[in-house]
Amino acid sequence: MDQYDRASELEQAEREAAIANARNATKLYRSDCIDCGDDLEPHRLEYGICVPCKATREHQDKQRGRR
Ligand SMILES: [Zn+2]
Repeated sequence: MDQYDRASELEQAEREAAIANARNATKLYRSDCIDCGDDLEPHRLEYGICVPCKATREHQDKQRGRR
């Protein structure tokens, strides 16, 4: 294997790693609510929870803090 082959192989490995990282990044976002399993609206995807469930959680957190 000469120097050029090694360089292009490394380049390809880096490209594949970058693609794998991009796939993992999109996997972080779930498409359904973590609490009720409803499909999330696009603007809720990064939160992973729908608006009603988020409100319920905040309500419960407040009650917990009062105790
Ligand atoms: Zn929900």
